[in-house]
Amino acid sequence: MRESLVLLLAVAMTEFAAPALAPAQARTSKTLDIYVVDVEGGNATLFVTPSGESLLIDTGNIGAAAPRDAGRIMAAMKDAGLQQIDHLIITHWHGDHFGGLAELASHVTIKEFIDHGPNVQPAEAVDNFLRDVYPKLYSKAKHTVVKPGDKIPIAGLDVRVVASAGKIINTPLPGAGKPNPSCANFKPGDNNAEDPQSVGTYFTFGKFRTVHLGDLTKNKEFELMCPVNRLGTVDVLLGLHHGQASSNSEVMVHALHPRVAIMNDGTRKRGEPETMKTVFTSPGLEDLWQLHFSQLSGQEYTVPGMFIANTLDAPLTAMPITPIQAPAPGPGTPPPPAHNGTAYWIKVSAQQDGTFTVTNARNGFGKTYRYGP
Ligand SMILES: [Zn+2]
Ligand SMILES: [Zn+2]
Repeated sequence: MRESLVLLLAVAMTEFAAPALAPAQARTSKTLDIYVVDVEGGNATLFVTPSGESLLIDTGNIGAAAPRDAGRIMAAMKDAGLQQIDHLIITHWHGDHFGGLAELASHVTIKEFIDHGPNVQPAEAVDNFLRDVYPKLYSKAKHTVVKPGDKIPIAGLDVRVVASAGKIINTPLPGAGKPNPSCANFKPGDNNAEDPQSVGTYFTFGKFRTVHLGDLTKNKEFELMCPVNRLGTVDVLLGLHHGQASSNSEVMVHALHPRVAIMNDGTRKRGEPETMKTVFTSPGLEDLWQLHFSQLSGQEYTVPGMFIANTLDAPLTAMPITPIQAPAPGPGTPPPPAHNGTAYWIKVSAQQDGTFTVTNARNGFGKTYRYGP
């Protein structure tokens, strides 16, 4: 009995170790799992379907942080039992989104590279990467430039591109299209050139719905959500542009009516009061989860620690109540508090019936949100 079990295991392990030709890995899960990986105020969000097909949105930070962030993504892949990334979306050409890509690709096979097209915000590191490195990475894979309305084909998961390269879907998603009462109070915002180019994707898994909009800015949120709400509602709002106030207008957050929001913020990026107020006043919101406390929130605006995934390498004995102002960027700016040690993700496990569980990997705290009115 025991010998045959060992043999069975050996066969199973051999198959597992062989490079997968099919896009999906062997997996027995019934849930769609989403890992919101801590890349210190950048983005890396990993989707894994029940059959093991994977989609990664962004790859963390550029430069010295790239090995750290790629390592954190690989830790989430390992937890999910993944051997490769089937689809990768780079939302836009900022270093906190594509920065860990070359490092990750040196360790992991990526089958498809998805982006919005050329960089529109000239910057030496980005333009060098797009000229010298990126074409080599996708030369043996598939390269797809998406436009609004495109579907990304993933078995068992409906993935709809709703924004890309500064354009948005012309017609509402199925079931969406109601007038949005927040539009009357909308105030336009400033933005850089690349954030509004972000690839935004809307996901449907049975009755469960979620959206990731990259760093899409307020003015694009207005185009998408006014005068009618083209997206409809979601159970989970992912990302929130690190909690930055150049995104996250009420026309977007309140109209999406999320039950849960998960913010990909860092120790000083951003979770600023304006965003926190918009999220906390969002109708129907049950919980905000954060990858980090942020100095820009202070205790005044942050959530209880059990909903925060990460602390600092040198933890503070107490968190200041008052939020600080973000220091002006420049060579003399003091660095944000460091977190280069063990990092923890926030994981969503969604069922077809619309029930989902969110778990904080640091403290094991989890909460199940049952489907229903
Ligand atoms: Zn961290
Ligand atoms: Zn960003």
